[in-house]
Amino acid sequence: RNVKRQTMCRNDINMLNAEFLAIYDLLIPLDEEKAKQKQLLTLLEKLVSKEWPDAQLHLYGSCANSFDFSKSDIDVCLVMEAANSDKSEVLLKLAGILQADNLQNVQALTRARVPIVKLMDPVTGISGDICMNNMLAVVNTKLLQDYVHIDVRLRQLAFIVKHWAKSRGVNETYQGTLSSYAYVLMCINFLQQRRPAILPCLQGMDFTYCLTIDNVECAYFDQVEKLCDFGSRNRESIAQLVWAFFHYWAYFHDYANDVISVRSGCTLSKRAKDWTKRIGNDRHLICIEDPFELSHDLGRVVDKYSIRVLREEFERAAEILQYDPNPCVKLFEPY
Ligand code: ATP
Ligand code: MG
Repeated sequence: RNVKRQTMCRNDINMLNAEFLAIYDLLIPLDEEKAKQKQLLTLLEKLVSKEWPDAQLHLYGSCANSFDFSKSDIDVCLVMEAANSDKSEVLLKLAGILQADNLQNVQALTRARVPIVKLMDPVTGISGDICMNNMLAVVNTKLLQDYVHIDVRLRQLAFIVKHWAKSRGVNETYQGTLSSYAYVLMCINFLQQRRPAILPCLQGMDFTYCLTIDNVECAYFDQVEKLCDFGSRNRESIAQLVWAFFHYWAYFHDYANDVISVRSGCTLSKRAKDWTKRIGNDRHLICIEDPFELSHDLGRVVDKYSIRVLREEFERAAEILQYDPNPCVKLFEPY
């Protein structure tokens, strides 16, 4: 344990690469599933605009930023002015409207941390959650989607990491492990730090997109079609990147001192962020800065028990990728 290996010493890298790409292809949703998601969104837009003509619906989360697996639920955000004070009332009303239109399993969870209405559409078979006025989530979804357009290896790496996290039970925020959103930020930051870099730091460039939401300025370079060659000087394959990702989190990340920051394209020190001691439930045992809400550590859900689980899983993955003759079986073995 804890033997640090700097190089990948396998003679079957090409085969491993092909296996990862095959898994990636299997996980991608089919075009017809994406069409059904659109169909459901159109129905919801129709129902919402009848009651609230000025309201808008936005897709956010993985269904809107290309990190969704086949058969995922959709996340929808209802945006309307002056509804912040009576969110519960609006959501209850919305639930009534959905029920009247024969949507199934409709539930308004008005007391949740993020209040939502849940639903299932019997026509398309798709389930979804609708939240309210959560524009920061809509904008961070766009940022992730813009990064996807720059280099295909981001989507491939994130799919393998998410698939690993779901298989190993470390994608459960209510159990103290990390959200899919956190894992994608880890992948982006990792690719920003490869040499040569595979991804740029969009928030470090002259901004072409700017929106202020709840006093948070969200500004970055979003003309990503101009950056589609950005990573081409780096020829690392997906197998090498998966190996290096897990080695970084198993052996090289400085958990005691560092914060990973997609906004900066590098790591920052905990001291600079004043994230050195526990305040309330924020223990900062693994630190992942939100790209826009800078005081928000996506590792805040991790506690002294789950940090051990996480780090052991990173080490397990790193060792399998280094030594196991059949890594794809072991890596995704159900826990
Ligand atoms: P999955 O496919 O596993 O559902 P997902 O991309 O939908 O993955 P979630 O972690 O469920 O990821 O998050 C959905 C969206 O909600 C994210 O894309 C992000 O916009 C927003 N989000 C989630 N967690 C946070 C958070 N802690 N802070 C800010 N935004 C968040
Ligand atoms: Mg989701």
